[in-house]
Amino acid sequence: VLGNMMNRPLLVSSILTHAVNNNPRQLIVTAMGNGVIHRYTYTEFAQRARQLAIRLLAQGIQAGDRVGTLAWNTHRHLEIYYATAGVGMVCHTVNPRLHVEQIAFIINNAQDTVLFYDRQFAGLVEQLRPQCPSVTQWVLLDEPDDAVADGLSVYANWLGSDDTGFEWPEFDENTACGLCYTSGTTGNPKGALYSHRSTLLHAYASCHPDAVGVSCRDAVMPLVPMYHVNAWGLPYSSLLSGAKLVMPGADLSGPALHKLCETEGVTLSAGVPSIWQILLEYVQAEGLGFSSLCRAIIGGSACPPAMITALAQLNVSVRHAWGMTEVSPLGTVCFLLPEHESLSEKEKLHVLASQGRPLFGAEFRIVSEGTVQPHDGVATGDLMIRGNWVIERYSGQAQTALNNGWFHTGDVASVDSHGYMRISDRSKDVIKSGGEWISSIEIENIASEHPDIKMAACIAKPDKKWGERPILVVVKRESSSPTAEDILSIYTDRVAKWMIPDEVIFIDNMPMTATGKVQKTALRKIFYESQEI
Ligand code: ADP
Repeated sequence: VLGNMMNRPLLVSSILTHAVNNNPRQLIVTAMGNGVIHRYTYTEFAQRARQLAIRLLAQGIQAGDRVGTLAWNTHRHLEIYYATAGVGMVCHTVNPRLHVEQIAFIINNAQDTVLFYDRQFAGLVEQLRPQCPSVTQWVLLDEPDDAVADGLSVYANWLGSDDTGFEWPEFDENTACGLCYTSGTTGNPKGALYSHRSTLLHAYASCHPDAVGVSCRDAVMPLVPMYHVNAWGLPYSSLLSGAKLVMPGADLSGPALHKLCETEGVTLSAGVPSIWQILLEYVQAEGLGFSSLCRAIIGGSACPPAMITALAQLNVSVRHAWGMTEVSPLGTVCFLLPEHESLSEKEKLHVLASQGRPLFGAEFRIVSEGTVQPHDGVATGDLMIRGNWVIERYSGQAQTALNNGWFHTGDVASVDSHGYMRISDRSKDVIKSGGEWISSIEIENIASEHPDIKMAACIAKPDKKWGERPILVVVKRESSSPTAEDILSIYTDRVAKWMIPDEVIFIDNMPMTATGKVQKTALRKIFYESQEI
């Protein structure tokens, strides 16, 4: 028999309604640049979201249509998230850091109808206009301004008037609400089309105290951009929880972020290691601290243990998280269990540096050469995932992206008996030397403990005898001059001899991807791909 309970659809608009009904005066704060701070309440935010929805509908944009954004983390971007989803349109967040050809491909593939953009991307938009015929309106995210050239649609003028009779419609919770493309390091980018249901379940799960644990007592600052997998769901989980939302805008420099943290009382923030590195370096160099920040969610690439220690010294506890575009993105978050309390600091750090345990709603499997491996913390293999917010197929594609019901993540990992997952590599980055795997993440984590190293990446060099050998590419800290021997000495007694990199290559700048991760494909191309062995 079926249960007798109400079947209310899980809709993004229900987050907004709940937020306004229960935390009407909670704030959304945005750093607009040049020291200007915009602040308004959830109530004012909801009104603007309604105005935007009314205008989009009046323009003939329909449920199911894609509305694109090229925008920073701001209150306006948040208005677009909620207004589009609220009326069944799809908010398509485009990553402005990609190459212009890739951006044009993504916009055309998604068939965006309207595109909202921040002023910093005006030059990019001029290049895109002739290439993207589906976009009928390009709207500058700005307030009315005399300096704006004629003929440009400016967001604040463009909003409709608020018809107070307007109500968010109800529809099937499986309707799409958001679209985000993978960065396409291999082949063309592919779209992950999130549903209202998957987005809400992801938001619920991430609010769990053993996950991101967002609460109404938090002031949340997403450093991860809203174009990188919906800022890891924080725009939803924060409003669902009634948290203050602090949007950093375009200035992601150390001084700007630290000041915002302090003046707005930020308690929780989230981003990739490279952005945390920028903030940490500034705070350490200036001898500063954090008076309110106490939790840092770090993921998107492996968080080096040295970063966990450095933040702990500033009374900020790190929760290492793993996720991907196809997983909405959160799959795991790391924290200690009560039984870990008796461990030494070093052993605790080892646990905290793993990618952590699955959120309820996500399940893992490790598969090696077609065989499912035990969760014993030793066996490694391809990491497969399934769950309520995991992709089933890519946008616009008829065939499933699954393999017997599981999504192949492209990562190589182990899982232990408590569910802690540990990534050793992306499968395309693994190093195989003399038939044995070397985890580039393990080699990089150790390198990051070296005081003279700012950033390190371990890549495979083709080798006649061993197949591949590990090489360490290093950006050294300013005013230090380590030798290769200095650096390699850190591996003594830490890893097996054959795992120690053969060479250290010093470079000035690490090539980074559009989502702030080390671009190992570029490093291999620069150093080795043309090399004959
Ligand atoms: P992009 O490649 O555009 O950054 P994603 O954000 O979807 O796209 O990247 C997902 C991948 O990032 C994962 O498959 C994994 O390889 C890597 N990743 C994410 N979080 C972690 C983490 N905590 N540790 C190691 N790798 C991670």
